[in-house]
Amino acid sequence: MKKHDIIVVGAGCVGCSIARSLATASDLDIALVEKEHHLAQHQSGRNSGVLHPGFNYEPGSLKARFATEGTRRMKEYAAKNDVPIDECGVLVVAQSNAEEQRLEKLQEQAAENGVETEFLRGQDTIAEYEPHVSGQAALRAPGAASIDSQQYVYSLARDAEAAGVDIYTDTRVDEVVERSDSFHLSTSSGSLVGRYVVNAAGLYADKLAAKFGVGEGYQVVPFRGEYYEVVPEKRATCRSMIYPTPDPELPFLGVHYTRRTDNKVIVGPNAVLAFGREAYDNTNLNISELVETLGFRGFQRLISNRKMIQVAWDEMNKSYRKQKFVAAAQRLVPGVEATDLRPSFAGIRAQVVSSDGELVKNPLFKHGTDSTHVLNAVSPGLTCSLPFGDHIAESVLDRFDS
Ligand SMILES: Cc1cc2nc3c(=O)[nH]c(=O)nc-3n(C[C@H](O)[C@H](O)[C@H](O)COP(=O)(O)OP(=O)(O)OC[C@H]3O[C@@H](n4cnc5c(N)ncnc54)[C@H](O)[C@@H]3O)c2cc1C
Repeated sequence: MKKHDIIVVGAGCVGCSIARSLATASDLDIALVEKEHHLAQHQSGRNSGVLHPGFNYEPGSLKARFATEGTRRMKEYAAKNDVPIDECGVLVVAQSNAEEQRLEKLQEQAAENGVETEFLRGQDTIAEYEPHVSGQAALRAPGAASIDSQQYVYSLARDAEAAGVDIYTDTRVDEVVERSDSFHLSTSSGSLVGRYVVNAAGLYADKLAAKFGVGEGYQVVPFRGEYYEVVPEKRATCRSMIYPTPDPELPFLGVHYTRRTDNKVIVGPNAVLAFGREAYDNTNLNISELVETLGFRGFQRLISNRKMIQVAWDEMNKSYRKQKFVAAAQRLVPGVEATDLRPSFAGIRAQVVSSDGELVKNPLFKHGTDSTHVLNAVSPGLTCSLPFGDHIAESVLDRFDS
């Protein structure tokens, strides 16, 4: 039975970043445990790959601080470690006066967060940057970038390993037994013992936390985000990244265009209830997980709100009816046709919902006795991962043996 001082569960960008920080800042014996054979198989490898420089987030919030610092640090990290990155900037587009006003607010917020932006008024000014976009105004953030998130996670894991972390893949943590001075973890590959456990299990973080008696009143509700890819001959449709004006009440940013580091242009994601935490296809069903979501009081309260019912219906339609998805894409780029888009991958967001029906929009972590649980590494969790990993590692080291 292998013993470690600290066991980090989950090797997505958050778990890898935490393990790397812990090993760099201490001489402790650290393990990183991942249920899949490959890293970044879930949220960290199935996302838009956009570094959000922080104009979207409330000034003074942890999310704003982590996003601005995270963007800067990830650019430096990518350059130093040969992780593919394209610093192409983003355009957030307004189609109405109400959206234009929201963009003005976003620009004020950006200034407070120290994020550079430029306000573009009128179609002609927008066309200088994105000739195919339709809109009456746009906010341009030149600091946004597109990164290869899978290669980034592998690079973090290599750093962690070089700093002494033992990485166990194909190792799913199933059960936890607390002993006087340690936790015994039963896994799909035998037992592990840790004096302290850090839970970064993403879509299953609430379930693992419950085994430690932590996180009551919160549940992960899985929201699938599906993408289409623009066919190669139409990639010129998008030079950088194009977003709609966000709805401040929703945690999701809406269907957008992203030019990726491999030069593909992806369009998406929508946000539809997934019928299972890893139900990546809209025909996949995990009955027990679906029943659990539908039976959760927080979810029932969330969807009892009229606006949410409308949003859920629209998003569901985008999943099952391509034309509805295309219509959302055409709102930004009217020239895009259904034949220009072909189905691509899907990701599933681990969106934490509280039992009173609130979609938790900020990073959320809770401590137990000798354990720390990242319950909500909400988007832009990839962007935030370096400072967030340091933040969690610092609080774990403060608590370790104290
Ligand atoms: C569709 C989509 C688009 C997004 N776009 C962006 C974006 O453009 N920019 C941005 O900054 N963020 C974006 N995000 C958010 C970002 O991807 C996530 O916040 C981030 O990846 C969360 O990382 P994580 O390490 O917490 O989770 P994950 O990557 O899900 O990692 C958790 C790991 O834990 C493992 N695990 C689970 N249970 C166990 C167990 N019992 N035992 C062992 N291992 C276990 C899983 O296999 C998994 O590898 C997006 C997310 C989605 C889904």
